Amino acid sequence: MTLDMILEEIKKANTIAVLAHESPDGDAIGSVLAMSIALENMGKNPDRLISEFPRKFKFLPGAEKVKASSDIEKYDLAIALDCSDLRRLDGKEYFENAKKTIVIDHHGTNTMFGDINFVNPVAPACCEILVGIFTYFELDIHQDLGTCILAGIITDTGGFKYQGVTPETFEFTAELLRKGVKVSEIYEQALETRTRSNFELLKRILSRMEILEDGKVTFTYITSQDEEEVNAEAGDHEGLVEVGRGVEGVEVSIFIRQIDKELKYKVSMRSTNDVNVSDICYLFGGGGHPRAAGCLIQGTIEQVKEKILKEVHNALEHRK
Ligand code: AMP
Ligand code: MN
Ligand code: MN
Repeated sequence: MTLDMILEEIKKANTIAVLAHESPDGDAIGSVLAMSIALENMGKNPDRLISEFPRKFKFLPGAEKVKASSDIEKYDLAIALDCSDLRRLDGKEYFENAKKTIVIDHHGTNTMFGDINFVNPVAPACCEILVGIFTYFELDIHQDLGTCILAGIITDTGGFKYQGVTPETFEFTAELLRKGVKVSEIYEQALETRTRSNFELLKRILSRMEILEDGKVTFTYITSQDEEEVNAEAGDHEGLVEVGRGVEGVEVSIFIRQIDKELKYKVSMRSTNDVNVSDICYLFGGGGHPRAAGCLIQGTIEQVKEKILKEVHNALEHRK
């Protein structure tokens, strides 16, 4: 059984790198921190490797132990979390050089790039998969571990509101609440608190937001210059794509963000019901989940907008 194999590899390893996808969100960070605490509880001394740590998640237990890079070149074991493919992995060199690799993820587009792969595309968050794994390992999910896991679940479910939330999500949350985990504080920090830079970016994306396709699509953008002007740091753009989806009648929200002042944009898409945005992003070499996905597209804002809108238009025409 895969989980026995994972346990076996953990037991054997002296050096372990814990990694997640680049531009990490709350689920990626929660997963790295939770897995690392679990490994420490199993007597290991893992390295939490995240090259750019978003400031809004610094409150999480173990965040102070995160390193941007490591001196170890060849880890006994590397564990990739919440990451669908090697290209998107932050610290991929540690993964590629490791003697053994494990992938734990919930993306339907996962390429199974580890020696051992534990992928459940119906799980609402990678952190929810970890609950099952830690329970199988008979680990006690206590305060710190619970806090990290919940931060991931709350982020990826938009605060328990997206499709995919399971009865187990609530049962687990209730159990943590009983153990004294401060659920409302995590919720507040992970979802309700904006950095000032994020708030300034929000003002810009709102003023630029176009409503297209008979009110079914929103489109907006930020440039590298915007980010510079508002002193944005890693992660300060998170959540901006969600704004468009909340507008009545909107089925697809599109948010594009310039990368490194180049003619290259990171596209983020969200959908409400019928449109599978993962399928659309897959056409451009990206992926994700049916209602939340992303990809990278070269071009000017207008070119990128046109490319993506064409596919969204097709998807709206051809949906069931
Ligand atoms: P984002 O819009 O960046 O919040 O991403 C939404 C979802 O799509 C997340 O689950 C990401 O992991 C996934 N995703 C974003 N960009 C890509 C990409 N280039 N390739 C594969 N998956 C992606
Ligand atoms: Mn993620
Ligand atoms: Mn996730």
